[in-house]
Amino acid sequence: MKKILKFILPVIILAIVIIAKISISDNEALIVNRQSDPNLRVLVVAGHGEQINSSYQTAGKQSPTWENGLKIYEGISNKDLAENLVIKLKHAGIDAQIINPELRDISLQARINRINTIYSYDKRSIAIFLHHNAQAYNKTADYFDKQNLYGWTSAEIGGATGTEIFTSKGFTKADQIAKYIGNSISNQQSAISNLKFRGLKEANFFVLKYTSCPAALLEFGFMTTKVPDCMVISDSLHREIYLQSIVSGLKQYSNSISNQQLAINNQQLTINN
Ligand SMILES: [Zn+2]
Repeated sequence: MKKILKFILPVIILAIVIIAKISISDNEALIVNRQSDPNLRVLVVAGHGEQINSSYQTAGKQSPTWENGLKIYEGISNKDLAENLVIKLKHAGIDAQIINPELRDISLQARINRINTIYSYDKRSIAIFLHHNAQAYNKTADYFDKQNLYGWTSAEIGGATGTEIFTSKGFTKADQIAKYIGNSISNQQSAISNLKFRGLKEANFFVLKYTSCPAALLEFGFMTTKVPDCMVISDSLHREIYLQSIVSGLKQYSNSISNQQLAINNQQLTINN
């Protein structure tokens, strides 16, 4: 028996090594051996807390339980999006990290402090806040669940719908970032679903106003509207395409900075010659 093992064991180990080598794609290998994007470090903030011991950490911030059992806890959905966005960005060669990895909710000031600290030593930093929207109650709401949480079963009967991007007021660097992400969402995510892109907006949100780096806040659909919003938010393919469109928007933004830099350098060369 020992003799057989002595012979078979090295063969098995060799087979495992060969299979492992084949199964590692170039893409995965590159992640630890890449030249990171020269213009971007993305600080991703997941809106709200998660669950601790089955207890949801942020009051409100959830959809009603729809009649088919579908329910969205905003904080849980946002964290899932944030984690996947970071992975996708890294695979695209862009440095990225989640600013609030903990389960509990952290204060807006704490989020800003973490972002501003990183920005102080990495000036490529930008902040992306991930959220879902909710519509304030009005009489057209046609649905109440057992907890008396309200909603609209469809956008057609008055439920607010769509995705939008907020930046701080006035002309800032964040406007450009929002423009590229917005175009990308319109062309990719909205193109395959009936969840429209509502456009670029400006607001004096605390987190946008006090972050020292460019910052954009994305509202992906309304939790208070079942069709199409909650159906899209809860669908894995749509989530995937939404995240992919953010990544390609950011890539295009970075390319635009590189091209501008190149144009300036060329101009400088022409002047010097
Ligand atoms: Zn939110």
